[in-house]
Amino acid sequence: MAGRVHILKPELANKIAAGEVVQRPASVVKELIENSLDAKATTISVIVKDAGKALVQVIDDGEGMSSEDALLVFQRHATSKIATAEDLEAITTLGFRGEALASVAAVAQVELRTRQEPHDTGTLLRVEGNELKESTKVAMERGTAVVVKNLFYNTPARRNFLKTRTTELKNISDVVTRMAVVHPEVAWQYVSDDEELLNLKPKSTEDRLKDLFGERHFESLVNVHEKTDYLAIDGFVGKPDFSRKSRVDQFLFINRRFILNRAINHAVFQAYEHLLEKGMFPFYILNITLDPHKVDVNVHPSKMEVKFENESNIYRFVLSIVRKSLAANNLIPALSFQTDDIPGRFGERLGFAQRPGTPTGSSPQATSLGILSQVGAEEIDIEKLFGKIERRMGTDAAQKDGEATFPTDLQCATQPAADRVFPHRPIRAPGEKEPVQEGRAIWQIHNKYILSQIRTGLLIVDQHVAHERILYENALSNFENSLPTTQQLLFPQTVQLSASDYSLVKELAPHLGKIGFDVKLFGKNTVVIEGIPADVRVGSEAQILQDVLDEFKNNEHAQTLDVRDNLAKSFACKAAIKAGDRLNTTEMIVLIDQLFATQMPYVCPHGRPVVVKIPVDELDRRFGRT
Ligand code: ADP
Ligand code: MG
Repeated sequence: MAGRVHILKPELANKIAAGEVVQRPASVVKELIENSLDAKATTISVIVKDAGKALVQVIDDGEGMSSEDALLVFQRHATSKIATAEDLEAITTLGFRGEALASVAAVAQVELRTRQEPHDTGTLLRVEGNELKESTKVAMERGTAVVVKNLFYNTPARRNFLKTRTTELKNISDVVTRMAVVHPEVAWQYVSDDEELLNLKPKSTEDRLKDLFGERHFESLVNVHEKTDYLAIDGFVGKPDFSRKSRVDQFLFINRRFILNRAINHAVFQAYEHLLEKGMFPFYILNITLDPHKVDVNVHPSKMEVKFENESNIYRFVLSIVRKSLAANNLIPALSFQTDDIPGRFGERLGFAQRPGTPTGSSPQATSLGILSQVGAEEIDIEKLFGKIERRMGTDAAQKDGEATFPTDLQCATQPAADRVFPHRPIRAPGEKEPVQEGRAIWQIHNKYILSQIRTGLLIVDQHVAHERILYENALSNFENSLPTTQQLLFPQTVQLSASDYSLVKELAPHLGKIGFDVKLFGKNTVVIEGIPADVRVGSEAQILQDVLDEFKNNEHAQTLDVRDNLAKSFACKAAIKAGDRLNTTEMIVLIDQLFATQMPYVCPHGRPVVVKIPVDELDRRFGRT
């Protein structure tokens, strides 16, 4: 009986293998662009018809090929990019497996034109189902043009698997965008069904981003640029108010290769700490430059996944570098009254990402008052700023500055610090100068917001969330350090708790101690509060303890927080001054001082904004001065 095992015919093997490389028109676009970039092209045109199903054409002005080479490229494992096993250890090109053209040719009708210097004629090859149909000489510019027609014409099942035209076109646009973002030195043209969607001149990365995403969007980005011995990270991350409900605007590259990687994604996300609201994802474009020996790009035929020699190392670098870049920027939300368009997503701008029901152009929120943009880093140095306010308050320079007088409903807080409702004595080092009381540059309104003039406009601080941020960070650092600031009570308070709260206090006792609660367990669900954190108002200790426990339980149900983080949040939320608490000038200054000494002054631990700015230009515009 004849054996049943046999080797597959090359055409069939190629068709099968093609499935891994060419899943959809966008994969063809990706592979062809990679080849053009590997050939050092400086101009690349991508032309598609019917979302790439009818035609994908990529034209470059790269090195081109000799006619001998051109005849080889449709064979599987034909490549000029690697030769030895060592080469595979350190890939510096986008392609290296020698599979792309063979795969494409197995499932489509392909025409290749190419000319290499110094030859003065080019080669034209026509291939169908891996069979060479035509080979002639052509006159052409240096470079290569590949036309791929009727993708999957010979594998109908695959063709039927393709998604809608819109989806397939969007996939192609995503590929072109990624490539264009990370290769700003290349000129790109992108045409779909005779409509030019992109025409990008070679530019700096900054300008390329502006071209792709719009000026306004660009302004909301923070530059990341850091080099260590191990790696370099370059790119941009979005300020928190530019975050998205999905991960679509996340571009990660390793040595300018677009990759998908959950760990690094998470590292970036993590760097935003509490800056993002739940369910929001940051915008980012980051390229990690890494010794190619330290990353294996040969894990998947589509080369979108990679394996790192040391992933946790990369994770830590990315986390700390992105965090640092965010912290180095003043992420103060500015109030904008503008009614012009909110920067649309790139897709919307080009009109190819239109989902039903998503209006392009100005969005409905655009007309309402909202936090739309953020001020640039250069505008404010908060510490200097408040130093200045403090100094100014010591003199009567303010009057000489010709500052405006205030409308009467702006309540100027000038009471001496003694008659305060503010429960927390601002803690100052002994001998440290008390700021002068009678000031004019800081006010409280509605016992809720603190207003202050800054060089570029008006700063508004929500007193409750500001204090919450301060207490939260204090609590967190108290967990790390061993010296809590406890005020011992003259009259310890005995409190009867529910059985479950009693056991919660028991469980949290060490942590409570760290943030300044001195609570003794007395048995029978009774605790004695002997000391309270310096920030807690004497007289309200029992209430605050109960509130903190309740908040802790709430958080526990709602989200999975680390115990200490939960406790810090609960405490901060409950012990912070409330809207309605009247503050005097000293208290306001100290509050703001302390706020800007925190690591993340612009958002409260729950993600609400703490600070908002109204730029002078905005006021000028409102009052018709411009
Ligand atoms: P790989 O890119 O993995 O080497 P491909 O099948 O994509 O495999 O391409 C095979 C070879 O064809 C490449 O190694 C390269 O030498 C040549 N080639 C393909 N496209 C181009 C191009 N646009 N310009 C110059 N050479 C090209
Ligand atoms: Mg290739």
